[in-house]
Amino acid sequence: MSFRTRFAPSPTGPLHLGHAYSALLAHDMARANNGAFLLRIEDIDQSRSRPSWETQIYDDLTWLGLTWDVGIMRQSDRLTDYRSALDALWHRGLLYPCTCSRRDIAEALSAPQETVNAVGPDGPVYPGTCRNYAPIDPNIPLPEGVALRLFMSRAIEALVDDSELSFHENLYGGRHITRIDPSALESAVGDVVLARKDMGTSYHLAVVLDDAAQGITDVVRGQDLFDATQIHVFLQKLIGLPTPRYHHHHLIRDANGKRLAKRDDARAISKFREDGASPNDIRRMVGLSR
Ligand code: GLU
Repeated sequence: MSFRTRFAPSPTGPLHLGHAYSALLAHDMARANNGAFLLRIEDIDQSRSRPSWETQIYDDLTWLGLTWDVGIMRQSDRLTDYRSALDALWHRGLLYPCTCSRRDIAEALSAPQETVNAVGPDGPVYPGTCRNYAPIDPNIPLPEGVALRLFMSRAIEALVDDSELSFHENLYGGRHITRIDPSALESAVGDVVLARKDMGTSYHLAVVLDDAAQGITDVVRGQDLFDATQIHVFLQKLIGLPTPRYHHHHLIRDANGKRLAKRDDARAISKFREDGASPNDIRRMVGLSR
């Protein structure tokens, strides 16, 4: 298997040091392995994505000295692909529509009879309100304009072979296999949203389909997404897609130990550029050069 990785920023703000670390690491690994470094613009959230941020991403990466292989993928071009994957899951009886707001969920979870209050990668585990009310009829067409959740317990049963529910984690010289326990998926992750009402997909579904469509063999991304990886690996198995190797890197933090967010404009690459830093200064700041 050759090496193909990607950098997948959302054009919703400036790239900061944390993004630079991710992009540099992925790029350097691809070049060291004679592999490919691809870009993907994760712009499914059209309410927050801006073309000007996308332009700045290319500009910052070029300034950092990164080159990428041809064929930039943009998620907003892939809505029909997301829809066909949802359609297939729907007809397998593995999705149901959900009309709960965040508030409905919080209220349901605070009800006295509610004992389980697990928090998963997407927040509090969904209590299943709509699963219990909405009739699930895979023979009717996939509903539109409504959020769709994965019926996790059925999806687990639908996995023909769960003996290989695991992924390879390799970074910083380490290499180990993380096994995923299906019953923990049910209790600690629950019925994840695969299509948001306003987007026609969700991060989890899009990332799985896109990594497969780009032929990604190695996912290099932050440790903050480690818990989400079990969802991605599960979806890959459910849909019949290959599981890449994963390399979750540590997060770049500010002087107070807080992880950087998009709004930390003070750490934006463009700000360092304006202040006269060189690309090698950035490499040094994230620990990739002396
Ligand atoms: N778009 C995500 C982000 O900017 C990256 C997701 C991923 O690498 O899987 O955090």
